[in-house]
Formats: sequence, structure tokens, C-alpha cells
Amino acid sequence: MADSKTKKRCSFCGRSENEVGFLITGMNGYICDSCATQAYEITQEALGEGKKSAGATKLNLKELPKPVEIKKFLDQYVIGQDDAKRFLSVSVYNHYKRLLQKDSGDDVEIEKSNIIMVGSTGTGKTLLARTIAKLLHVPFTIVDATVLTEAGYVGEDIESILTRLLQVADYNVPEAEQGIVFIDEIDKIARKGDNPSITRDVSGEGVQQGLLKLLEGSVVNVPPQGGRKHPDQKMIPVNTKNILFICGGAFDGIEKKIAQRLNTHVVGYTASQKTATVDKNNMMQYIAPQDLKSFGLIPEIIGRLPVLTYLNPLDRNALRAILTEPKNSIIKQYIKLFEMDGIKLTFEDAVFEYIVDKAVEYKLGARGLRSIVETIMMDVMFEIPSEDKKEYKVTLDYAKMQLEKANMARLQTA
Ligand code: ADP
Repeated sequence: MADSKTKKRCSFCGRSENEVGFLITGMNGYICDSCATQAYEITQEALGEGKKSAGATKLNLKELPKPVEIKKFLDQYVIGQDDAKRFLSVSVYNHYKRLLQKDSGDDVEIEKSNIIMVGSTGTGKTLLARTIAKLLHVPFTIVDATVLTEAGYVGEDIESILTRLLQVADYNVPEAEQGIVFIDEIDKIARKGDNPSITRDVSGEGVQQGLLKLLEGSVVNVPPQGGRKHPDQKMIPVNTKNILFICGGAFDGIEKKIAQRLNTHVVGYTASQKTATVDKNNMMQYIAPQDLKSFGLIPEIIGRLPVLTYLNPLDRNALRAILTEPKNSIIKQYIKLFEMDGIKLTFEDAVFEYIVDKAVEYKLGARGLRSIVETIMMDVMFEIPSEDKKEYKVTLDYAKMQLEKANMARLQTA
């Protein structure tokens, strides 16, 4: 009895602490999450801007960046990957158009075109997603598919993908319902093997089935704090119909599946002419939906990701460009760091070539560039702020000495 009296209750609806998501404490009482949301909605309506249209009307097609402008923006930060950039730019632009059209009562309903980007690790998939986020006019979030497992198992429930989106939208549901979600490492939820497994595939097909629900567009119950759903938690219903999903994955070994498909298809005289033009160093460019199926994505998921694009492997030239060209390239970042100490940092050109050589030699890709530069610069960064120097030039000899001195094994595992 005493217990029910001491229990904290929402002063508006009277529900107790464990009947609601959470309680906000005021001077003389409490308000629960759903009453707070309702209060917000009432305020919005009273102010003459119904929440439903609030998100959509904010967009104005004339003011939105066009695909060419979106790509130009991406070019400042991401080297190469033209195809992926074009696909992304168009998809994002179309996403806006769909949101604008949604409220116009038009008969022709534009359906969304979720995207899947395939490319080896470290080729810029996440970077593309992060960069595009900088100029988006809708809520955007990046989630990692590796943490997802089928409901009821250790790991996060599928619906938690939308928790982050709700959070960036400040729990404004209609805003979140227009957002864009980037699902990284989608290949990690591929079915193990082409045939359904006899043992339970907790992180594979089951998760794909769950994900399908989100991709298709349905109302799902999202745990406001993420993680696993538990019975006491109050869920927030979110309609995914207008949420754009961009998926990315390395799909390690998919080149073999592409090659197999090309080989089996290309038989006969005309075909042998065709094989001659296949660029074996970059099989990814021939990727087709059936390769994703052979890799272990279920056909229903593939059907819901109609835009398929790829990222090129990074060659020497690309790595060299990544080092210095992007707006916030690694080298520019070091120059900035030194500038803050009043020191002008320069590099001998040969140092850049040397760094790229090492990245290629150790097969470290773009991710390795930073660890190599870091190793070269560590001693200078330690000493120079205490010295009275106004400039510092990194020479090839110095770079070589530093790298050789460093523990190479450490670099190789970076
Ligand atoms: P992925 O998601 O494909 O595994 P990331 O986008 O995380 O790879 O890339 C890792 C890092 O490598 C990035 O933070 C960036 O510094 C660099 N990088 C990779 N690809 C590019 C690129 N095309 N242009 C510029 N930098 C790149």
C-alpha cells in the first residue's frame, strides 16, 4: 500500500514509473514521455504548424542541392568512386522529391529506391555516407549490421536500427519517418552458404527477414533507448515507408561469384570476344543482383534494394590522391595540427610516394595511410612543440628512418 503511494507517477495521466518509458521530474510533479510528446504536438498545432507537414514543408525543391551539386560536394572529400557518387546523389535527390510529392495528393506514387553499395573494405563506403550526411536536410544515421541478431537472441533487435534515427530527430517521429539510414556491413548478415542451414542461423537469414520488414515499409515498434526490447519498455511506433535505406558491405570473396557467373554465361564464339574485355582486376564493376544472392542475401532483400552500385579498389594513384587532396586529407590535418603550434609543416614530395609504396606493400589500403603517417610523425609531434622552431620539413630519409625504426608488425595489424 505504502509502496503505491511512494511510487512516482505522471501528474498528467497518472501512470506509474514502470508503466511508461520514463518520467521527467518537475518542481511539484512528473511528466511521462508520452504526455510530453502529446504536449509538444498540441503546442505545435496551436502554433499553426501541424507536425505532420512540418518535416515535409521544410523541404523546397528549388533550394535543395541537385544531383550534380551533391556529387561536387562529395568530390571534395572522397577520391574517385564516381559511379557510387552518382547513384547516391540521384537517390538522395529522388528521396527529397518523393517526400515533397507525398503530401501533394498526386496519383502517381513515387516508390523509394533503397541502395546497396558493394566494395572492398577501406574503399570509402562509410566515408561517402558520412560526407553526404553533412549536406542532408533530413535526419541521417549510420548503423552497423554486425550487432543485429534475430529477436530473442543475444545482440540487438532489428528495430534498434531506427532508435538512432529517432535520436537524431530528437524523437520527432514524423521527422524520423523521412530520414535516411545507412546500414554498414550488411554482408555480415548474409546466410552462411547458399542453402538454408539445418542449424539455427541466428545472425543470418532471421535478421534478413526482420530487416525486410523495415525495407518494405511498415509500422515497427522501436525501443526508444535501443538495444534489446524488453517487456517494460514503451515502444515508439515508426512507419518506415518513407525512410531511405542505404546499405554498404565489403562482400569479401564476391568477386569469385561474379567471375563464376561471367564464365558460365559467356560461352561460345561471340562470348569469347566478350571475355576479352573483362577487367579481371576490378570484377566488382560487373556485380549483379544474382551475385548478392549467391553470397547469401535472400532474394526478397535484394528486391528491396533496387539500386546496386560498387566501389572501385583503390590503386596507387587513388591512395596518393587520398593522402593530400580531400578537403580534410590526412596531410592537411597534420599541417593544421602543426599550424596550431605556430609551425609551418612541409613534406618532400618523395615522402608521399614512399608512404603510398608502404601502404601498397603491406596491403593496408587507405586505412593504413593514417597509421603510416602517424608512425613517421610521432617523434616530431612529441618534441617540436617544446622547441623554438617556426617550420619543419619531413624529408624522405627521415620518413624512412622513422618507419624502419617502428615496429612493422604493429603497422601490419593496423
Ligand atoms: P569502408 O566503409 O569502405 O570500409 P571507409 O569509408 O571507412 O571504408 O574508409 C576508411 C578510411 O580510408 C576513410 O576514413 C578515409 O580516410 C580513407 N578513404 C577510403 N576511401 C577513400 C576515398 N575514396 N577517398 C578518400 N578517402 C578514402
